[in-house]
Amino acid sequence: MKLYAAMIITCLVFVYNSQAQDDADSRIIEEIFKEALGDNTAYENLRYLSKEIGGRLPNSPEARRAVSFTARIMREAGADTILYQDMMVRNWIRGEETATLFSQKYGSRDLIVSDLGMAVPTGPEGLRAKVIEINGLEDLKNKGEEKIKGKIVFFNKPMDPTLKSTFTSYGRAAGQRVRGPSEAAKYGAVGAVIRSLTLATDTFPHTGVTRYEDEIPKIPAVSICTAHADLLSEWLDSDPTLEIRFVTTGRLLPDVLSQNVIGEVKGAEFPDKYIIIGGHLDAWDTSEGAHDDGAGCIQSIEVMRIFNELGIEPKHSLRAVMFMDEEVSGEGSITYAEHVRNTGEAHLAAIECDRGGTSPVGFYIDASDEVIQKISGWKNHFQPWGIHLFTRGGSGADVGRLKEFGTVLIGFLPDTQRYFDYHHSPNDTFEKINKRELQLGSAANAALIYLIDKYGLE
Ligand SMILES: [Zn+2]
Repeated sequence: MKLYAAMIITCLVFVYNSQAQDDADSRIIEEIFKEALGDNTAYENLRYLSKEIGGRLPNSPEARRAVSFTARIMREAGADTILYQDMMVRNWIRGEETATLFSQKYGSRDLIVSDLGMAVPTGPEGLRAKVIEINGLEDLKNKGEEKIKGKIVFFNKPMDPTLKSTFTSYGRAAGQRVRGPSEAAKYGAVGAVIRSLTLATDTFPHTGVTRYEDEIPKIPAVSICTAHADLLSEWLDSDPTLEIRFVTTGRLLPDVLSQNVIGEVKGAEFPDKYIIIGGHLDAWDTSEGAHDDGAGCIQSIEVMRIFNELGIEPKHSLRAVMFMDEEVSGEGSITYAEHVRNTGEAHLAAIECDRGGTSPVGFYIDASDEVIQKISGWKNHFQPWGIHLFTRGGSGADVGRLKEFGTVLIGFLPDTQRYFDYHHSPNDTFEKINKRELQLGSAANAALIYLIDKYGLE
C-alpha cells in the first residue's frame, strides 16, 4: 500500500514538474515572438541585402559583398566566431537576352524572355527557326525527330494548379527547364523556349539553371513569361509556320572562388554538438533574391539575435549557415557536408529556410517516427501563432546532404501559395516581403531551436 502511495506521489510530482516546464517554455516562447515582432533589424537587413546588394550569383561581386555583409550582421547578432568555407563555382555571366516572334498572319512581336543559367549563347547573330510546341518532356517522344529536327522546341507544360503543394507542381514541371534543352537536342532541336515556372499569368520571365548532358549537342535556351507563352501557343495554333528569333550572349568563364559564411555561438554544455539553421545566400541576377532566399538567410541570423537579446545561452553550439551556390551547382552544400565528414562534428539538427518569407505554417521533418512525434509534441507552443503543421517531409537542397551523418533534417514551411509568383524572377523584390510575416518566421525557427536545444532529439 505504501509503495502504491509513493508511486502516485511520484506521478503527481512528475505531472506537476512537466506542467511547470511547459509553462516556463510557453513564457520563453512568448518572449521570443515578442522580440521578433518588436524589432526591425531582420527586416532592415533584408532590405539592405535585396536593395543595396541585389541579385547575387555565386561568381559575382554582389555575392562577395553579401558574404561580408552577412558576416558583419552575424557578429552584431551575437556570433562569437565567423567561419568561411572556400569553394570553386561556375562563372556564368548573363548577356543580351531578346526574342521576337515572326508570323505571316499576325506580324512580328517582341517576347519577354530570360536566358537560362549555364545555357550556351546563340551569339550576337541570334538563332531563328520554326517552332514546335511540346507539352512536357514526355511529349518529345510523341512528336518525334521528324517534327522536331531543326526547330526551336517550345516547352509549354504549365505548373499544375490543382495540386495541394505548389512545390510539387514546380517539381513536376521543372524538368522542362533543367533537362529540356538536352532532351530536345536528342531529337535534333536547335534551340529551346521554356514556359516560365509560375502559377501566375504575367510578364515576368523566370530563369533558373539548365543542365546539359555530355555528348549531346548543347542548344541555347530561354524561359518565356507566361503571358507570352500563352500568346505564342495561340498564334502557333493558327500559324504553324511562325518563327522565333532569339539572341543570347551569356558567357561561361573559368571557375572562380566563392564562399559559405557561417556565424557560430559556442554551446555552453555540448560545444561539440551542433544545431544549424541556414538558407542560400546566392540569388538569381535578374531578381533581388528577397524571398529566394534572402529571407531564409536573414531569418537564420535573426534566431541568433533573438537568443542574444533574451539572454538565452544555447547548450549546443548554434550555427547560422549562409550556403553559397544553391542555384547553380550546389557547391555550398557539398562543401559544408565535406567539412562535417572531415571534422566528424556531430550535427543534432539542421533546419533549412528556403521556401520564401511568408507566414509560417509549420515544419517538415525528415527523421524517425519517434523524433517526429517528439517535435510534434511541442505543437501547442506554436498553434496560437497559426503554426500547426509538424509532419514528415523534405528539408531542402542545402542541408539534405547531412542525412548520411544521422542529422535530423527539418524544412521550415511558410505559406507557399504565392512563392512561385516571385521565384527566380524580377518580381522577387523586397517590396513583396511583409515585415510581420518575415518576423513570425524568424520567431517560429527560434522557438523550435530553443526546444531542440533544451530537450535534445533522442
Ligand atoms: Zn531558393
